[in-house]
Amino acid sequence: MNVHEYQGKEILRRFGVTTPRGIPCFSVDEAVQAAQDLGGKTWVVKAQIHAGGRGKAGGVKLAHSIDEVREHASKILGMTLITHQTGPEGRLVRRLLIEEGADIRKELYLGMVVDRARQRVVLMASSEGGMDIEDVAARAPEKIHKVFIDPATGLTAGEADAIARKIGLEGGAAAQARAFMLGLYRAFDRSDASLAEINPMALTGDDRIVALDAKLNFDANALYRHPDIVAMRDLDEEDPVEVEASKHDLAYIRLDGSIGCLVNGAGLAMATMDAILLSGGWPANFLDVGGGATAEKVSEAFKLMLRNPQLKAILVNIFGGIMRCDVIAQGIVAAAREVELRVPLVVRMKGTNEELGRKILAESGFPIIAADNMIEAADKAVAAAQDANAAVDLPSAGA
Ligand code: GDP
Ligand code: MN
Repeated sequence: MNVHEYQGKEILRRFGVTTPRGIPCFSVDEAVQAAQDLGGKTWVVKAQIHAGGRGKAGGVKLAHSIDEVREHASKILGMTLITHQTGPEGRLVRRLLIEEGADIRKELYLGMVVDRARQRVVLMASSEGGMDIEDVAARAPEKIHKVFIDPATGLTAGEADAIARKIGLEGGAAAQARAFMLGLYRAFDRSDASLAEINPMALTGDDRIVALDAKLNFDANALYRHPDIVAMRDLDEEDPVEVEASKHDLAYIRLDGSIGCLVNGAGLAMATMDAILLSGGWPANFLDVGGGATAEKVSEAFKLMLRNPQLKAILVNIFGGIMRCDVIAQGIVAAAREVELRVPLVVRMKGTNEELGRKILAESGFPIIAADNMIEAADKAVAAAQDANAAVDLPSAGA
């Protein structure tokens, strides 16, 4: 789960990580009031969306007067920001963060992420922070320093000091950086984050280390023990189909192919996507209906897949263990009646009550393509999707 920058900074402050003072706002008037409340001579007006690259896209502006705060806030609020992380459709800005301006001497980079291969949290730091960190990573990876943190000890003061030195910090700034890194690690660990990125981490004119930006991601499987973080969820920033899916307790991830998959069990769902790829197709989604799906749940799953305009065929792959194939078949038939099933449907069912399930499908009157094993099912789905393409192309070609 993602949160906005201002929410990420709020969490970081609880763990002693230094950030500028700032106030989140939903209107231009609130932004002006926030700048007045903060005081000072410079402010930063920042678009709050769940995507980076805002600076380059015009979503982060420095203001030297209250009038400029008003100007920037009016421009940024309501604009659709297109950054390298939003995709071409961009993101509508509905929230702003007004912050006190910082006196930046140098922009550094600090990130933490779970490294699956090493099974550790890796801390990454660079003296070359700012808006071009992706270039640094590609061109000069030796400028990114790493520590793989032992979970038994956590990040140690010695490790933090060594990193501070490597990114060119000395004296008071190095001591501040140590406290900053230890605080960030504590925040990461205690809040079950999967990613934390501070870019830039600024060295100020008066030798302080401050988080000017904050991007935090949290492990969805640990959210049950962080109601305060769940409360920060902003549904406007999430894919509406995935939000709908989570309401029905379905694990749905939209992908960019044309073959919808409905599968029980995450492992089988992954294997099904592999089979589609092997057969020359590409999945339109990942969808795990879980072990104990009901007919209603299967029906909801169909509706979600059919909302995808790129969908050309559906492949249902069910292993009936605890889940019975006849229940799934009933769900499929109910869904086909309820929604307009506008694409070919390939079904492979194995396990408990598979004969009964096949009978229900065969007698339903819907043109369901049956398959006996996974590869056959994938081949048939890929062929059906291609036929669907041909069917779309033919009339115009013949006319
Ligand atoms: P991102 O582009 O989405 O990652 O947004 P950032 O929050 O990183 O802001 C982009 C850039 O704006 C930073 O790299 C800084 O150069 C600049 N910036 C952010 N906050 C401040 C600030 O308080 N003062 C000044 N002068 N510049 C800032
Ligand atoms: Mn940034």
